[in-house]
Amino acid sequence: MAWDFDTDPEYQRKLDWVAEFVRTEVEPLDLIYPNPYDRTDPEIRALMRPLQQQVKDQGLWACHLGPELGGPGYGQLELALLNEVLGTSMWAPLVFGCQAPDSGNAEILAHFGTAEQKQKYLQPLLDGEIGSCYVMTEPTGGSDPTAFRTTAVRDGDEWVINGEKWFNSCAEFATFHIVMVVTDPDAEPHLRLSMFIVPADAPGLELVRNFTVPGFSEHEGHLRFTDVRVPADHLLGAEGAGFVVAQTRLGGGRVHHAMRTVALVRKAFDMMCERAVSRPARKGVLGGFQMTQERIADSWIQMEQFRLLVLRTAWRIDQAQDYRAVRKDIAAIKVAMPTVMNDIARRALHLHGALGVSTDLPFLDMTTYAEVMAIADGPTEVHKITLAKEVLKQYAPADPVYPTGFRPVLREQARDLVARRLEREVGNL
Ligand SMILES: Cc1cc2nc3c(=O)[nH]c(=O)nc-3n(C[C@H](O)[C@H](O)[C@H](O)COP(=O)(O)OP(=O)(O)OC[C@H]3O[C@@H](n4cnc5c(N)ncnc54)[C@H](O)[C@@H]3O)c2cc1C
Repeated sequence: MAWDFDTDPEYQRKLDWVAEFVRTEVEPLDLIYPNPYDRTDPEIRALMRPLQQQVKDQGLWACHLGPELGGPGYGQLELALLNEVLGTSMWAPLVFGCQAPDSGNAEILAHFGTAEQKQKYLQPLLDGEIGSCYVMTEPTGGSDPTAFRTTAVRDGDEWVINGEKWFNSCAEFATFHIVMVVTDPDAEPHLRLSMFIVPADAPGLELVRNFTVPGFSEHEGHLRFTDVRVPADHLLGAEGAGFVVAQTRLGGGRVHHAMRTVALVRKAFDMMCERAVSRPARKGVLGGFQMTQERIADSWIQMEQFRLLVLRTAWRIDQAQDYRAVRKDIAAIKVAMPTVMNDIARRALHLHGALGVSTDLPFLDMTTYAEVMAIADGPTEVHKITLAKEVLKQYAPADPVYPTGFRPVLREQARDLVARRLEREVGNL
């Protein structure tokens, strides 16, 4: 039997250290510097470096990466338990070297990058020296990569990129972008696209503007490519393999968002419970009302179900060592995440009354975050389709009129079975 819901005591000791460290040293910084992604800001750098060193001293830097890439190689399950602590803070993932979008970009550079690409882009990214951006969504459509229009055309030893992309997180602070573009418009849909590394200072690449999402301290960039030239060796993965590279990246990204969401859900839940036992109401406190109790019970059930699904998905990725083999589970947590976050944040908000809707408490940010989680990395509908298709693959067709559960037939079969048994038992008397 291998079912075990306990955390290894040695790792639990590390998690306890992380919880205290994040609470006392890291989270206060979120209130003063809400966007810590600017690595050139001297104040942010001065505050970030010593904290990162403490994490490295604890052997917790870039927890998800193998030793060959400078991490301890703990795997996704340990990362999930760590992200359950880090997810309430913008600073904490950067302090621990596992922040989006860099962690996903590092993963595909490690998977598909050449030795030169790794040295030039991956190493400084892992060292926390530079930032990166993942550039896929286009103004004319994001959910369907087969509709992308930005192109790269080969010209001698270079590729020339033209087109527009938007909602690219942290574009303003990126040293390089990983960009998905059409290289063969006539190929079959999943072979039309390739992935490129594009330096942020490439001539012709323009940051048109930044989008702001309430409650999100990072900005989403709108990028325009006008005859942007990159050397041929800036292709990441094979020509036409953009889809495969993207799936590797997005699989990890979705799971990591879900892990961090567990932390935010827990925060909303804890605040709701604190309010329930603190706020006087009639002759007792809010928690004495049955409708409050129902909210707390429903929230606890949703939170625990979601957490277990996230942890099992992480465990399955570790077993399979391949995100694609765990597509169904990843789609399921991607779908569950916004609903659980939204339901619990809204209940917590409601219990705080007027204060709950103010910007002095985090609940409205959490509900916006839930909406973003239902859209970013693909909308809920698309993931439901993936999940259902994967589930249906496990079923074989039966009679089109009478399902295998049709009781009259089952009853007939049961009667035959009982008759045979009785015949044997009576014969043996
Ligand atoms: C905060 C934030 C950060 C982001 N960061 C990045 C980033 O770093 N890099 C990047 O490339 N992109 C990023 N995105 C973009 C994100 O991935 C896209 O917004 C997403 O893929 C949806 O694309 P879209 O906005 O074009 O919506 P559309 O594709 O136009 O979809 C709109 C709606 O149509 C419906 N719909 C679409 N397809 C289907 C379908 N097949 N079946 C049923 N209904 C459907 C859904 O309701 C969907 O919400 C970010 C977005 C946000 C909000």
